[in-house]
Amino acid sequence: MGFVTTRDLARDYDVIVVGSGAGGGQTAYTLALEGVKVLMLEAGRYYDFRTETPMFQASHDAPLRGAGTPDKPFGFYDATVDGGWQVPGEPYTQASDNEEQRFEWWRARMLGGRTNHWGRISLRNGPYDFKPYSRDGLGFDWPIDYQDLAPYYDKVEMLVGIYGTNEGLENTPDSPEGCLLPAPAARVGERLVAQRAGKLGIPVVPIHRAVLTAKLDDTRIPALLHPGNPRAQALVAQSMRERAACFWATPCSRGCSIGATYQSPAVHLPPALASGNLDVLCDAMVYEVTTKDGKASGVRFVDRKTGKHVEARARAIVLSASACESARILLNSKTSAYPQGLANSSGKVGKYVMDTVGSDLSGQVPLLENLPPHNEDGAGGSHMYAPWWLYGKQGARWAEQGLGFARGYHIELGTGRRMPGASTGANLEWMTQGSYGAKFKQDVRRSFGSFVYFAGRGEMIPNEQSFCEIDPATKDRFGIPVLRFHWQWSEHETRQAAHMQKTFAAIVEAMGGKVLDGGPELDGRKAIAPGGYIIHEVGGAIMGADARTSVTNRWGQTWDVPNLFLSDGAPFASNADKNPTLTIMALAWRQADHIVDRFRKKEL
Ligand SMILES: Cc1cc2nc3c(=O)[nH]c(=O)nc-3n(C[C@H](O)[C@H](O)[C@H](O)COP(=O)(O)OP(=O)(O)OC[C@H]3O[C@@H](n4cnc5c(N)ncnc54)[C@H](O)[C@@H]3O)c2cc1C
Ligand code: SF4
Repeated sequence: MGFVTTRDLARDYDVIVVGSGAGGGQTAYTLALEGVKVLMLEAGRYYDFRTETPMFQASHDAPLRGAGTPDKPFGFYDATVDGGWQVPGEPYTQASDNEEQRFEWWRARMLGGRTNHWGRISLRNGPYDFKPYSRDGLGFDWPIDYQDLAPYYDKVEMLVGIYGTNEGLENTPDSPEGCLLPAPAARVGERLVAQRAGKLGIPVVPIHRAVLTAKLDDTRIPALLHPGNPRAQALVAQSMRERAACFWATPCSRGCSIGATYQSPAVHLPPALASGNLDVLCDAMVYEVTTKDGKASGVRFVDRKTGKHVEARARAIVLSASACESARILLNSKTSAYPQGLANSSGKVGKYVMDTVGSDLSGQVPLLENLPPHNEDGAGGSHMYAPWWLYGKQGARWAEQGLGFARGYHIELGTGRRMPGASTGANLEWMTQGSYGAKFKQDVRRSFGSFVYFAGRGEMIPNEQSFCEIDPATKDRFGIPVLRFHWQWSEHETRQAAHMQKTFAAIVEAMGGKVLDGGPELDGRKAIAPGGYIIHEVGGAIMGADARTSVTNRWGQTWDVPNLFLSDGAPFASNADKNPTLTIMALAWRQADHIVDRFRKKEL
């Protein structure tokens, strides 16, 4: 077993996993290490993080000095291959021409999906986040609570390696001793933000990110992850030894050839492949789940290289193609027995798509000018953040508490004197009145590292107007019907975005700085990033306690088809401000344990 072609496919597998990102990677890892024969079908091409990562190239070596282009929106060196807001030949459509009702869908067609270049911010959902309806009467409760998922958060943190600290803050869970890696030291700008925001009552603490600040303990952790399974322990220990600790020098968004960040091809796939229980087929675009006698029997896919249509079979199917793509596969698996699409007797497939509320603001702080030269590259992203601090003003009485919105946000920071990029020194005219030559160099040196950036990441409440469906008129280049998006922010989100702007401006002012670009923008409808822009889309097949109003049960198992599971963000019943990927992986591990258990009891 290993990387295969369509000709090498076995006749039958135990489980087919569709997608190799966070959800698919975690599912295949857990199943394969438990002895389950898995076929992973990945629409994107093979990607080797060890040889394809441009970690050390300089900006000036790249076309346009590495700046973003439509096919490389995050810059020439970004790790994404064959992906972005648009994938050639694979369109999606919008139900409305209204700019405010657009949803932009980011996809990455590569082994490992978006885990190759995500921001690595890895926050646990807290107890409130699983019961939002019970707290304020809006949206939906999950059919599980924090305690159900806590042991799996522990496991994922230990496996992938997450740095951070325990701060004992409300609805911001601490991890048990031994789960987290040490947090890197705060940068100068982060320290100043912490000091001044603290005076405004906003706590700024170490963030949690999936970067190895130290090598993983390959003697202690494997036994905790796989008790009673010495073979899994040995394979995971070997894989941990092959990952080096971060050397604090390169942008993680380019990928990491030394395995110091979490990417599915660096963490999940090596031990799963080494177990001999996993086949991986790249360039396999799944478009339909087949059924027999009320159960899923396999999937149909297009071989993207040859255009051939192929069928593969298994005892159970796990869709982890990313939230909206999994909804698309279900909706396209329409037969006379399932006229609304598969697993859709509730009519809820495609419904309640959620993104994260995003709004940002930059400032310039004279106190940070002319710092002595020092290296603040650090762990390729922020070291500190501010968790939501106003839970006391929300809950059941949110409407009377003056905020005007029911759910919170956290603040991600950008500060520091990191490796200058293509735009370093640009747009300084407001400060310098225009300069060139020696004076320009002095101006750039003086101001380098004096800029601060705040990005709010907040909770969106699911609503009836934000969903995806099959566009009856448009197909992709393989002939597969595409998704059409409907989108609507509610006032909970737009008011939250305006609150972000006010808060960021207050922090800049408390630092003695100046807000840039004419901000703050106090009109929430203008301040909020468009739907999909934060690339945290979840929902589309939500889990619940009632088959009439949800698509899956508490295991991510579809109510209608007992051997069909979803292990990406699709079953999320809400989208807390916490970035979703850690929760996707914790849910996937829990679900995979459940599948193994059901196989052992011969119930699947
Ligand atoms: C720039 C950026 C920054 C981000 N930062 C963060 C962050 O800091 N923290 C955080 O929590 N999240 C972050 N995210 C989001 C994070 O990447 C996703 O939540 C996570 O990758 C979702 O995992 P997934 O397995 O559902 O989907 P993906 O990782 O997208 O994987 C899905 C896989 O399925 C494959 N696939 C799709 N369709 C098919 C098909 N029909 N057949 C077969 N295969 C298919 C895709 O090619 C892909 O490889 C970020 C994303 C981006 C792009
Ligand atoms: S900063 Fe560290 S984790 Fe990020 S790419 Fe560089 S070595 Fe890897």
